[in-house]
Amino acid sequence: MKTITEPARDVPIYGEYDVAILGGGPAGIAAAVAAARAGRETLLVERYGFLGGMGTAAGVTNFCGLHANVHGEMRRVVQGIASDLLARIDRLGGLNAPHLILGKVLAQAYDTAAYKIAADELLAAHNVNLLFHALGAGVLMHDEARIDALFVETRAGRQAVRAGVFIDCSGDGDLAAWAGAPCEVGDNAGHMLYPSMMFRLNGIDPDKAGDAWRTIPLLMDEAEAKGTHTFPRKGAIVRPQKSGIEWRVNFTQLKRADGRAINGLEPDDLTRGEIDGRRQAIAAFNFLRTVPGFEKSYIVDLPPQLGIRETRRVLGGYQLSGADVLGCASFQDSIGVNGWPMEMHMAGEVIFKFPPIPESRGYNELPYRMLVPEGIDNLLVAGRCASMTHEGQSAARVSGACFAMGEAAGTAAALALSGNTRPRDIEVEKLQDALRGQGAFIGRDQAVPQAL
Ligand SMILES: Cc1cc2nc3c(=O)[nH]c(=O)nc-3n(C[C@H](O)[C@H](O)[C@H](O)COP(=O)(O)OP(=O)(O)OC[C@H]3O[C@@H](n4cnc5c(N)ncnc54)[C@H](O)[C@@H]3O)c2cc1C
Repeated sequence: MKTITEPARDVPIYGEYDVAILGGGPAGIAAAVAAARAGRETLLVERYGFLGGMGTAAGVTNFCGLHANVHGEMRRVVQGIASDLLARIDRLGGLNAPHLILGKVLAQAYDTAAYKIAADELLAAHNVNLLFHALGAGVLMHDEARIDALFVETRAGRQAVRAGVFIDCSGDGDLAAWAGAPCEVGDNAGHMLYPSMMFRLNGIDPDKAGDAWRTIPLLMDEAEAKGTHTFPRKGAIVRPQKSGIEWRVNFTQLKRADGRAINGLEPDDLTRGEIDGRRQAIAAFNFLRTVPGFEKSYIVDLPPQLGIRETRRVLGGYQLSGADVLGCASFQDSIGVNGWPMEMHMAGEVIFKFPPIPESRGYNELPYRMLVPEGIDNLLVAGRCASMTHEGQSAARVSGACFAMGEAAGTAAALALSGNTRPRDIEVEKLQDALRGQGAFIGRDQAVPQAL
């Protein structure tokens, strides 16, 4: 690639903080609240004008991984800050009752507007400083192992954010990669989980539609067998939102010309993915309009961006694996749990793999080492770009585990600062005590929460 040289320039310092977090998805929301609640001056930087990450920006509108199937009984195993957020969404009238997925585990849908507002209120209640419309663009290193500042591009130009501890909740490992932390991408052979363009339909007749989420996949199989339609993937998820006239549609799958998943780190791939995603959404809509109850439906929302499931995963002291998920692994340094199964978005299909149900407890613990990147001393990472294998990430990337990781990372950052030590050197027992004390469920010998 040809290059040009950008002239050196002085960059204004936007502010200096104890903790700076890049990315306001589930992980970033929880990290910011946890650090601020522990008394640390905290800044959350987000490129959009709202919080929620893929959950709002990509139209996901559904929480997975909050629950686990514990020996045949449904339990909400992600608590703590997630409980506060859920209660706020509920008070706004935007939270569905949990619904059963594949007869095995619960998920819980929500309204995007309520999520955005509830997240604003949650951060305000804990005095988190927020900087919207700021795209993280690089770092200045103090030395090889220490980040001095995060550069952000804003409407007022490039600015610098200084902090004692940085937390990468960008989902894509942007901050960690700029700092030089080692990362993996996909399965290291060029395959990532496939992205999807979500959308929502309104104008559905709920009585007529009934439980169409069961029949739609069968109707798709029939249409393909007849040769009237071809679909980008099997395993379409079309389910009602809180008001039965509105349904979310998780139907599409975006690939490159060579058949591999669109790469969320490549600008040209992203451009193609957005356009193809909308094209697939219209094709899906035309099919869905033939389903009883959907005849008068219309697309009420195509989200701001394509839904990216996987790009970089930052290498930390431990990589959560698919075997850990299926084997309900325990870890001495557990900071939370994941109850979601492996959910591999492969070419043309979605493959779920559950731990044995009801024989197993249905959740794995998440070790603190997943959040501590190799090589960088004042950086933590939380969410879908934390230290996991390709298979492990297919499970623990969902919102529930991201909330848990974020809460732990924010709490750990505060502990490191108060002990004047590196995040990797904090006493994990103190972190675990703090998390339990603030209502989180971290597994170990803690009683599994009863409430849903
Ligand atoms: C199509 C699709 C369907 C899904 N379905 C479900 C589901 O039903 N239930 C479920 O729980 N999960 C689902 N997931 C997964 C889940 O939504 C994500 O994995 C989860 O949101 C990850 O949380 P996160 O906080 O790690 O990152 P993200 O949610 O990706 O949030 C990262 C945030 O960082 C911001 N950001 C990134 N880079 C920068 C930068 N350089 N500068 C500034 N800001 C930046 C982004 O704008 C974003 O707000 C789905 C994902 C997709 C793509």
